[in-house]
Amino acid sequence: MDQFTPPVTRLIEEFAKLPGIGRKSAQRLAFHVLDMKGNDVVELAKAILNAKKLTKHCKTCGNLTETDICNICGNSKRDFSTICVVEDVRDIVAMERTKEYKGVYHVLYGTISPLDGIGPDDINIRNLITRLSDDVIEVILATNPTIEGEATAVYISRLIRPMGIKVTRIAHGIPVGGDIEYADEVTLLRAMEGRREF
Ligand code: ZN
Repeated sequence: MDQFTPPVTRLIEEFAKLPGIGRKSAQRLAFHVLDMKGNDVVELAKAILNAKKLTKHCKTCGNLTETDICNICGNSKRDFSTICVVEDVRDIVAMERTKEYKGVYHVLYGTISPLDGIGPDDINIRNLITRLSDDVIEVILATNPTIEGEATAVYISRLIRPMGIKVTRIAHGIPVGGDIEYADEVTLLRAMEGRREF
């Protein structure tokens, strides 16, 4: 690292913190930035700062939003009696691509993973329980088919079932260990249609 000036080294180190960026890629990106026009660098920096500053979590479901309530929770045409529980915001994007699901969502921001020290209180479960009113008929558990995703689904279903709400789990059209985020629309649609009581 000594061959670079401290500011360049710092930039390389910041890029290397990003997911999927190794040392070599971080260097490549840093040198790309140094080659960019001054204005373009300012725009890039502004875009990063603005995205962070202007993005909030929806008070109801946890989805990303610019306002207090996201555009799905704020859409009166959605079916508020069905809540689809997902691990990540990107899963909402995948579900919305199917254009079939009309219910609303709840984002957990992770899964229960005792080995990593992540318990039920560390993910967005409590907010899910508090939003379950008489109007909610079904909760669809659409966590990924991984060990952690299954364990999280089991935990949530045990909390919700005694409340008299129907709890379903999406079918395993998605390969075990696979990621909902990367499932194609047809697979996702089948997984939703084939959901069973859990
Ligand atoms: Zn929302």
